[in-house]
Amino acid sequence: MRGTSMADIGSYNERLVLQMIRAAPMGISQSQVVRGSGLSRQTVSLIARRLLRDGLIETAGQRISGPGKPTTILRIVAESRWTIGLHVDPAHLTVVLCDLQGEAVDSTTLAAPTEDASADLDRIVTEIERLLALHDATPIHALPDLLPGHSADGEEQGVPTPPRRVVLGIGVAAPAPLDVAAGVIRTPPWLPGWHQMPIVERLEAATGLPVLLDKDTNAALTGEIWAGHLPSEQTVLYLYLSHGAGSAVSADGRVHRGGSTQAGEIGHLPTGLTDERCRCGRYGCLNLFTDARRMVERATTAGAEISPDDLPGAVDALAAAAQRGDAAALRAVEAHLQAVVAALDILARVHDPQRIIVGGPVLAALQPLAAQQIRARTAEWLEGSGCSLHFSELGNAAGAIGAACLFLEEELSPRRGLSARARGRA
Ligand SMILES: [Zn+2]
Repeated sequence: MRGTSMADIGSYNERLVLQMIRAAPMGISQSQVVRGSGLSRQTVSLIARRLLRDGLIETAGQRISGPGKPTTILRIVAESRWTIGLHVDPAHLTVVLCDLQGEAVDSTTLAAPTEDASADLDRIVTEIERLLALHDATPIHALPDLLPGHSADGEEQGVPTPPRRVVLGIGVAAPAPLDVAAGVIRTPPWLPGWHQMPIVERLEAATGLPVLLDKDTNAALTGEIWAGHLPSEQTVLYLYLSHGAGSAVSADGRVHRGGSTQAGEIGHLPTGLTDERCRCGRYGCLNLFTDARRMVERATTAGAEISPDDLPGAVDALAAAAQRGDAAALRAVEAHLQAVVAALDILARVHDPQRIIVGGPVLAALQPLAAQQIRARTAEWLEGSGCSLHFSELGNAAGAIGAACLFLEEELSPRRGLSARARGRA
């Protein structure tokens, strides 16, 4: 399912050094890398020369600290390697191009997935090709022409120009249930046209790039961690509000996936709010309140005039009506947010986070009402808890940026890189 770009990043030690340099956006001295990595000065020096040659890092002057020779500052070249992120959400398809720091270089939101997944995939591939051409990016498999001895212009001799804007691969975020190892989206309830879609195989065949699949909530939280440069020692609880609600938790900078990447499926969390019986047989399950279609139905049943045909459009109309003060719309939104707060309360007790982030397209649609209400309803129990509440500012791109970051994480992590290669040999 993966692996052609592995050789480009190099050995365990090279990945280790590169990760240390990447984690210091302003640069890090070669001596600090030696101390932090536990590698010898000679090894670090050799690796740094190789990374400089390949254009992954650059020198950023020298630093004098105490007696002895000044030490060279090394800095990542964000433009050297890029990845693509794709988020398949029932409300939209988002494609982003991210640099080596996980920053979005460009992004496009396409219309929502349809019943015809193959046609959707064609739209996605066309958009990827458009973005690569627009930004003069080179897929990794086209790279051999640029290797030492040849400059980027194709001229031989002289000092070779290190390659830039080399696209390593694609990270895909999609709703559960999904099979990450097989690279298949299984049966997400809001994506009927995409059931059993072998997305990894299809995208690899269409683009020639390695593809990685992960769950949307895992990706969105990873996007928040990378984009927000969140301290890795924090435990972060993330609540994702789309057609349904999902959650993710990270510790030590990494998202907890569970045994089959399905951790965080909270649709049947008992909210304690009375309502009709859920299809699972219990009462007051979270999804009875947080399914966006339910929220719209509640509003229309109570007299709000909203067409429920196009769900993202209906949620926007509902939000606008609630904002205007339409009583039925406001009650439906309030019921939704009350359940969100109940879920946050339970999940915060389970996971003991230092930071809570709420995001997703339905949250974005319900702003600023959502932030006001969630803040007001959580203020009491958050006070003095040591936990802070935040609302995602990445908008619809969060999942796609996170998917690109997950791909980078897999590519650059020394530990995981090794395991990936071990899997490749098996
Ligand atoms: Zn249930």
